[in-house]
Amino acid sequence: MKALQYRAVGAAPEIVTVADPEPGPGEVLLKVTAAGVCHSDIAVMSRPANQLPFPLPLTLGHEGVGTVAALGDGVTGFQVGDAVAVYGPWGCGSCHMCAQGKENYCLRAAELGIRPPGLGAPGAIAEHMIVDSPRHLVPLGDLDPVQAVPLTDAGLTPYHAIKLSLPKLLPGSTAVVIGTGGLGHVAIQLLRAMTAARVVALDVTEEKLALAREVGAHEAVLSDAAAATVVRELTDGRGAEVVLDFVGAPPTVASAGAMVAVEGDVTLVGLGGGALPVGFGVVPYEAKVCSPYWGTRAELIEVLDLARAGAVEVHVEEYSLDEAPQAYERLHHGRVDGRAVILP
Ligand code: NAD
Ligand code: ZN
Ligand code: ZN
Repeated sequence: MKALQYRAVGAAPEIVTVADPEPGPGEVLLKVTAAGVCHSDIAVMSRPANQLPFPLPLTLGHEGVGTVAALGDGVTGFQVGDAVAVYGPWGCGSCHMCAQGKENYCLRAAELGIRPPGLGAPGAIAEHMIVDSPRHLVPLGDLDPVQAVPLTDAGLTPYHAIKLSLPKLLPGSTAVVIGTGGLGHVAIQLLRAMTAARVVALDVTEEKLALAREVGAHEAVLSDAAAATVVRELTDGRGAEVVLDFVGAPPTVASAGAMVAVEGDVTLVGLGGGALPVGFGVVPYEAKVCSPYWGTRAELIEVLDLARAGAVEVHVEEYSLDEAPQAYERLHHGRVDGRAVILP
């Protein structure tokens, strides 16, 4: 079958032919119908060899939906032909975190060598993929695969981050979304669907700000050195109760700390290498800073339910499998509007 692989450190990913995978006991083989392209892949591919957390070559793609093509021995609960979404942050399934559905924070994944598809295990940007357990599948029902696939990460990750701050997102509050790309443009819609907060979006180009307004941001502001001042002006000096940073670079993290309200939350989702120290005179009193990773199994079900209710419409650019390298190239240069989705 054809697959998109990251094969050599620093090289662009390429389409190659690999052996057709077969499901082992307990595993499920999917025919991939759609796979999403995430900026985290670019972050991983820009690491030097000694910081790469998995061996190469690697089939990319940690957002996947498909139809069940074959069931390994002992698998029950699914039938060949079922449409499913893949829950990506695979864990052991039995530790204290996994028992709560928080496989994204599995206590034993590293020790057991369990890694997400596309981030260590063979991923979704291929004609077929292996899912290690039916536990990691959520029925898609009548959801459109192209619309649904970004929800497995670009939806789930902001959904989880927003849920952490829901008690602070009361009427009259302000939520700032920094970076309105794949994750950020979904975050704006989730904030609108889940809260009464005013949503202020920040990005670096007018095109991205236009998309932010189109998907529901009340205000869209250029992300520059003055952004924190603008947010304080928009909030009568109070600042934002919640700042979600989908860039996470040193300048955006500094802005986030400068625009958050007393008792507010700064949530660093982007892998841009920034850090925000906490201390007196550094951030406002009682501001909390955290850096969450992906989301829980139950939350993926919740996000798909929200989409089914019509609350989220992902802005998608579609590519064939052969065009997948161009999708990464465009994402790398900040030219993707919304989420790039590969249709193998
Ligand atoms: P993306 O490229 O689709 O979107 C990033 C957006 O940020 C773009 O619109 C870009 O124009 C904008 N941007 C760049 N510099 C900016 C700045 N200085 N100020 C404001 N906006 C700026 O990327 P994505 O796939 O949405 O991923 C976003 C980030 O989240 C990445 O760092 C990715 O690695 C990370 N991520 C983290 C998790 C997690 O679990 N923590 C999960 C998925 C992705
Ligand atoms: Zn991702
Ligand atoms: Zn576990």
